Amino acid sequence: MPIRSSVYAACAVVVAALVVGAAAPVAAAPPDPADPGGPAVSGTAAPVAAASPEASRPGGPSGAVGAPGVGDPFFPLAGNGGIDVQDYNLKLAYDPATDRLEGTATLRIVATQDLRRFDLDLREFTLGTVTVDGVAATFTRDGQELQITPRRTLRKGASFTVVVPYSGVAKPVTDPDDSIEGFVPTGDGAFVVNEPQGSPGWYPANDTPRDKATYTIAMTVPAGLTAVGNGALVSQTAAGGRTTFTWRERFPMAPYLTTITIGKFVVTTGRAGGIPTYVAVDPSQAAASAPVLRKLPEMVAFLQDLYGPYPFETVGAIVDDAPDVGYALETQTKPAFDRAPDDATLLHELSHQWYGDAVTLRQWPDIWLHEGFATWSEWIWAERHGGQTAAQRFADLAATPASDDDFWNPPPGDPGEAANLFAGSVYDRGAMTLQALREKIGDRAFFTVMRRWYAEHKYGNVSTPEFVALAQQVSRQDLGAFFKAWLYTPGKPAFLADDGAAVASARLAASEGGGRRR
Ligand SMILES: [Zn+2]
Repeated sequence: MPIRSSVYAACAVVVAALVVGAAAPVAAAPPDPADPGGPAVSGTAAPVAAASPEASRPGGPSGAVGAPGVGDPFFPLAGNGGIDVQDYNLKLAYDPATDRLEGTATLRIVATQDLRRFDLDLREFTLGTVTVDGVAATFTRDGQELQITPRRTLRKGASFTVVVPYSGVAKPVTDPDDSIEGFVPTGDGAFVVNEPQGSPGWYPANDTPRDKATYTIAMTVPAGLTAVGNGALVSQTAAGGRTTFTWRERFPMAPYLTTITIGKFVVTTGRAGGIPTYVAVDPSQAAASAPVLRKLPEMVAFLQDLYGPYPFETVGAIVDDAPDVGYALETQTKPAFDRAPDDATLLHELSHQWYGDAVTLRQWPDIWLHEGFATWSEWIWAERHGGQTAAQRFADLAATPASDDDFWNPPPGDPGEAANLFAGSVYDRGAMTLQALREKIGDRAFFTVMRRWYAEHKYGNVSTPEFVALAQQVSRQDLGAFFKAWLYTPGKPAFLADDGAAVASARLAASEGGGRRR
């Protein structure tokens, strides 16, 4: 795989300059869990100040240049200020023989401030004529910032349409932890997953989990291949030795949850309860995945009983053969697996449809709100299906000695840096936090918290202090010290027994039989 270190390095330099030079607060300190009214709760973190000197020039058109990022502590330049994308319409064509991707992206956007210029996020590619409301606009490129200057200033509240034609060789994006994502070529097509920053590797996006939108993705591929996207298959048409698959997700979706995975697939459609299913499996993975995928309807029903009605109108799975990727991801409505999953991996990614896809973090350091919840979902599935109880699982993990630094650190609520986004502690200690909460406040209050968290934030964005506030409200307990110990304090919580014995830990580090999972 080509390593795009030059692109990443270039971004890192810009980021460093912004963090040092900008007055805008890039909140890096963990929020005080006992203070749900703290700054991290308000949600709209101050955008990173626009790099352009014009943005802050006294007497200049203040606020007329959209910020190049939304100030995420881990990815400050991801997303953009001043825009709220309502809908993406991507018309794409891909040829696995050349890895060439050609497309036209049409974005319907609402201006959230006056805009003389605004950014989208897009890496690489050659661009054609970019238009805003049908009129040619000028643009410049700066790393992954695509800076677009329309002919006329856009007024706050105005709805406008941007069209970006682009083409080039699709390349994966390399993450801070050296894993790859984005548009990843496979033996017969491409495996497409984007957490946290892969989307600009294949389409122009407002790449922040805070800007959810609806999507139509049409992908044209050589005959014999299938392109699988989010939501419902609207049409499938053949012409000139190629097939076009058009997918529509009409529920709000964060850019990192999109997919249009391409390959030779065996497709099975059906129903899970009343929900239409579409399951695409690479033939090489069919035998191994069949007994697991058969449980998909049962798992969806289980999660609905536990957490509330399934949030979207379609469900399914994509099982590919993508060993270079090495993990599964909860792409919306159709989790994508790099290989045949095991039960726990399928359950994990399906549970993310509730916690992750429907209820989505506002900033990336709160990733335990996704991974702790999905890992705990694996535990409760096992508990209710004749396996180990969540309490037993917790006890086994709690016996991990304090000297096992990698197990207990980083604390899940404060992973510290982007390279730790998918650290084992975010999963295991994150799930332990939920099980400890369950044991502290009791099943009745705990499940009320879980269901209300979902019902009250479905299709929106959340932060850890909001979860703490809900748990305190439902339980009528002061949980500040509890969450501070579990989520923000490095090392093994002091109140857990530790005899220092080097027991073989029963770690569930997300790397067992069914593959690593995100
Ligand atoms: Zn996960």
